[in-house]
Amino acid sequence: MDENAEDRLTALESVWYEIIEAVNAGRTSGLLCPECNAPDGLEVEERQRRTIVTCPNCKRVVEVAIATA
Ligand SMILES: [Zn+2]
Repeated sequence: MDENAEDRLTALESVWYEIIEAVNAGRTSGLLCPECNAPDGLEVEERQRRTIVTCPNCKRVVEVAIATA
């Protein structure tokens, strides 16, 4: 299982890439979890310079580092 952790992380990053891009672009509503497609959508919480995206359905938590100019 551990041997596959890195591959899984890469896949995870790629499925979340669209979401991360959207959040970075300031779109925080109407987002769907790419892993479970929960109709309730994702919760976006801003904490200082980073944004935490949480899926209330599958409990996935993804941290988005906001690039500020
Ligand atoms: Zn989910």
